[in-house]
Amino acid sequence: MSIWEEIQQELTKAADITLKEAGKLTDTARQKLDEKILTNHIGKLYGEIGRLCYDAHRTGADHSKEIAAVCSKIDNLNEKLANVKAGNSASRIQHYCYMCGSELPIDADTCPKCGEKQFDAEETAETADDGNADDGKDKEPLI
Ligand SMILES: [Zn+2]
Repeated sequence: MSIWEEIQQELTKAADITLKEAGKLTDTARQKLDEKILTNHIGKLYGEIGRLCYDAHRTGADHSKEIAAVCSKIDNLNEKLANVKAGNSASRIQHYCYMCGSELPIDADTCPKCGEKQFDAEETAETADDGNADDGKDKEPLI
């Protein structure tokens, strides 16, 4: 019980979760952790949409493409979340690079360490190719 409370506390205060711990958890705890991570990340993406809308209103910039991209990320993660909640272990979050074993951000398209493309990279790669690739670089740290 106390371990689980500890995990939840860690999750709420730290956006960057020590994913190495996830490997040591039981299936149920792991499932709960994935749910938490996904929920947390979906929240961040909603925040990103808010930021884009705010900027659009303030500067008149057209962020509709970026917003659409974030929306599809959310759809994607919600789908993943539903699968995780249903106990479908195949749809677990990929925590580590299959190539070098480094920890991965939740929707990383490439491994931050070795640069290897990860398997569900398609939709994030597409949004990066949307024309303003250099423009988007500075906004990445949110993820
Ligand atoms: Zn790697």
